[in-house]
Amino acid sequence: MTSAPGRPLRDLADVPVTALHHVGPARAAALAELGVTSIFDLLTFYPRRYLDRTRRAELASLALGEEAAVVGVVRALRARRTSHGRSLVELDATDGDESLRVVFFNQAWRERQLPVGTQVLLYGRLEDYRGRRQMTNPVVDVIVGVDGGARDPTRVGRVVALYPSSERSRLTSWEIGGYVDEALRRSGTLADPVPRALCESLGLVDRTAAFWAMHRPAALEDVEPARRRLAFDEFVRLQLALARRRRRVVAASSGVAHAVDPTDLDVAPGAPGGSLLRRFLAGHRFALTGAQRRVLGEVLADLARPSPMQRLLQGDVGSGKTMVALSALVVGVDGGRQGALLAPTEVLAEQHAASLRADLADLRVPDARVLGGERPLSIAVLTGSLGSRARVGVLAGLADGSVDIVVGTHALLQEDVRFAALGVVVIDEQHRFGVAQRAELVARGRERSDEGRDPDVLVMTATPIPRTAAMVTFGDLDRSVLDEMPAGRQPVVTRWLGAGRESEGWELVRAEVARGRRAFVVCPLVEGSDRVVAASAVSERERLAATELAGLRVGLLHGQMKPAEKEQVMGAFRDGALDVLVATVVIEVGVDVPEASVIVIEDAWRFGLAQLHQLRGRVGRAGDRGYCFLLGDAPSDEARARLTALVDSHDGFALAEIDLDLRGEGTLLGTRQRGRSDLRVASLRGDEDLLVAARDVAANLVEDGDAADQLVGELRLLVEPSEVGFLFQG
Ligand code: ADP
Ligand code: MG
Repeated sequence: MTSAPGRPLRDLADVPVTALHHVGPARAAALAELGVTSIFDLLTFYPRRYLDRTRRAELASLALGEEAAVVGVVRALRARRTSHGRSLVELDATDGDESLRVVFFNQAWRERQLPVGTQVLLYGRLEDYRGRRQMTNPVVDVIVGVDGGARDPTRVGRVVALYPSSERSRLTSWEIGGYVDEALRRSGTLADPVPRALCESLGLVDRTAAFWAMHRPAALEDVEPARRRLAFDEFVRLQLALARRRRRVVAASSGVAHAVDPTDLDVAPGAPGGSLLRRFLAGHRFALTGAQRRVLGEVLADLARPSPMQRLLQGDVGSGKTMVALSALVVGVDGGRQGALLAPTEVLAEQHAASLRADLADLRVPDARVLGGERPLSIAVLTGSLGSRARVGVLAGLADGSVDIVVGTHALLQEDVRFAALGVVVIDEQHRFGVAQRAELVARGRERSDEGRDPDVLVMTATPIPRTAAMVTFGDLDRSVLDEMPAGRQPVVTRWLGAGRESEGWELVRAEVARGRRAFVVCPLVEGSDRVVAASAVSERERLAATELAGLRVGLLHGQMKPAEKEQVMGAFRDGALDVLVATVVIEVGVDVPEASVIVIEDAWRFGLAQLHQLRGRVGRAGDRGYCFLLGDAPSDEARARLTALVDSHDGFALAEIDLDLRGEGTLLGTRQRGRSDLRVASLRGDEDLLVAARDVAANLVEDGDAADQLVGELRLLVEPSEVGFLFQG
């Protein structure tokens, strides 16, 4: 398939903005401050909003106290200092009929930005100041500067694009629009890497039309189709890069084809003999749920293949992910290889090791080096707090193969950790690891293993990632979902007890303890150092032990405790030597104490929805009724919505969608999880249909060298440097 004629968008990255008639060194420098150095940058520098000149309201018709957008021309401007020494810029603007007073405090630079004659768009609340209309510190878009007003009559259209730069930069929206205009005209027809027939079937406009309508819409209605097309391209690029990455990884990999017998999954309880997996499943306390069986089938199929497994296992809290992970590890061990289970905290690593030891206690593995040719399966723990002698011992066991499964924290990733033959890696609660870290982990598995093969990797997360977000964030992984809870698990009764109603919760804690159950109390999230956090937990425990929970055995767990102390407290709680565990959010992930039936979360509004759902999953695990009490009032509508959602819903995925709604996507793709900075106009929520279509299109285009090269080449220009490494290297 050959691409449509025209100039590839990517090529415009080689044309500097100084190629434009009106851009000299000074303006090029101003553009560079906005991240725009090439024509490519300019075309992908999208307007932040549009002004429809035909629809704007007259100043006179706007009500006081309302937010309004007003277009006016600066008529007079004064700058001075207030009696308190603050800078004050006052201006009068008029929309032709009415005038508006605008004041800016502490924005002295406005004087330079808004000389008399400038045409501006002002957003703010209309106030009354001594009988005149006024705005204080409004948002300002410079539409046409005084000198920029060499009015090109073709440009004074109905709709004006407003660019995100105009506030502080020396460039006005009008100027930027002029450069874009010239860039569009001189670029001519852009090659469209997406075949026309495909665009038509998806109802998408062509690329050139999309760029024109985005920057120079004839009417506001033209913007959305253009945005959709450009959003589609954003998704396709990413999906293509991920698909290519995957292919590269597969091509370069040398994995292990584990010996697997799928019928092992149907082994009857108590049946004797057979593979290690068979013995493990037959001897287990319970039978697999349908979902566990299905997911394990997917995992076994991956393990049997010579290319390394790269699979994401998603399952709500309590859905039984551990069982799946153990089974995968056991398969690896059966072939004489080792397994590694990576946990986010020491408490969890210890807990996993304890349950592994219990679950795998009866299993024996062949070992020619020991008398009888067989020995018990050996499990080691590797955490940062391990004493140096113990550490040396574990490292030796990993290197010579006498340790079969190692459970550890980040300590497993240290340089000196070497394996004889690493077969399977399970990463628990993956959200604590970044995308790039995960990639590195996989790459290192091979270097660290004397066998020189890529381990199979299973990434587990209880964070319900909405499907769309997963496609973007984990698009390079296969995905399995545990969508069924083990039988007998009932939804946790969730109540929000506002200020004054807390006693209801504490009474229930006492009642549950009286019938042999245990309770978690999660301390309020406090700002400050780890020490401050710990101190508040200490005092909260004291308070509770002296008041609401007097007479109960109340323990304490926080991040400043030594690992041995933590383990001792967890052990006491697990064994029933403690009735109540007052904890900071250390317990958030994975802690499994079947007798725990109540969780009280103090100042619940401070926690995110996903985190609250995780915490709630800590209780009611033994087929017993669980209770979750959310304490404290909600100080905002958003917080109220969050707490209400938790009371109303028990579906982690539904809650994740609500969370996305409440917090917006910024936080999902923002900062650490950012990962993908190419989503400038696409919205995971609003454009789900495009994302799904884009994935299919990408799967086809990945075979089409030219189109894929174009799109992936564009992506390279758009993502941040830190992302390039992950996306473009195998
Ligand atoms: P998570 O997915 O949160 O890691 P776990 O693996 O800790 O869930 O399992 C949650 C609880 O359910 C544990 O107490 C576990 O023993 C139990 N469980 C897991 N699988 C089953 C099953 N198939 N039948 C009954 N109980 C199960
Ligand atoms: Mg778990």
